[in-house]
Amino acid sequence: MDYFELLKIVLTAAKEFKNKDLNKQIIDLEELSLKKREEIIELKQEIMELRKKQNLEDRIERHEQPYLTLKGDNPKIRYCATCWGRDKIIIQIICNRNGSFKCPNCKIEDKYDLELYEKSEKEYLDIMSKYGSNPHSR
Ligand SMILES: [Zn+2]
Repeated sequence: MDYFELLKIVLTAAKEFKNKDLNKQIIDLEELSLKKREEIIELKQEIMELRKKQNLEDRIERHEQPYLTLKGDNPKIRYCATCWGRDKIIIQIICNRNGSFKCPNCKIEDKYDLELYEKSEKEYLDIMSKYGSNPHSR
């Protein structure tokens, strides 16, 4: 029998005495035990959340660029290091083919692959210089 079941039995028995003061204390005690029960549920949920975060924390791998990956996960699935650092939430970033990314949550934009980004920039500049950036110059 748990604490709350036992308390309920005692309170029910105490009601038999039909004493005003005692009845008021019984009501107070019932309210208090309800609050305590809610607190316990909340604390249990908090513990579960913290355990989940701890599990995640243990799996996090940092990189030179501001993104994260998870150990044992696909390394191409990248997460925002800013969101993790700030709020301990794991948000997948949107990676562009040119090596840059954007976080859909905090909206930060950065590079996940500096080499690829610089290569793409160079290719873009080469194309622009070949064909001219001004369409009216032809
Ligand atoms: Zn973010």
